[in-house]
Amino acid sequence: MSECIFCQIVDGKIPSQKVYEDEFLYAFRDINPVAPEHVLVIPKKHISSLMHLEEEDKVLAGKILLGIKKIAKQLGLDERGFRVVNNIGQEGGQTVFHIHFHLLGGRQLTWPPG
Ligand code: C5P
Repeated sequence: MSECIFCQIVDGKIPSQKVYEDEFLYAFRDINPVAPEHVLVIPKKHISSLMHLEEEDKVLAGKILLGIKKIAKQLGLDERGFRVVNNIGQEGGQTVFHIHFHLLGGRQLTWPPG
């Protein structure tokens, strides 16, 4: 069995609040939300981080971006605006090593992030 927590979520071995799923992507609500809408968008394929994306993943990378657009619309955030965050490595604040994109919205977001 995969030790990756997000692979286990994709496989349904760990419960999650699913927001969206297709052949390539899975999206679910973050268990520790920092905004009224806080969804994690992940590829079903295990890729540890952005730094592990390869040339062969370029179509998948596009699907992730288009999936984020679709999910933002589904959540009603397309008109209001929202933020997409991808943390990479230790100083980037990455804690789960399966690439994921935080989709944050539902309140006025500030800049810079911490
Ligand atoms: O970018 P980073 O790796 O820090 O984000 C991991 C995110 O995964 C955290 O926001 C955490 O709350 C979330 N998480 C989750 N469900 C889990 C484990 C972590 O939503 N079972």
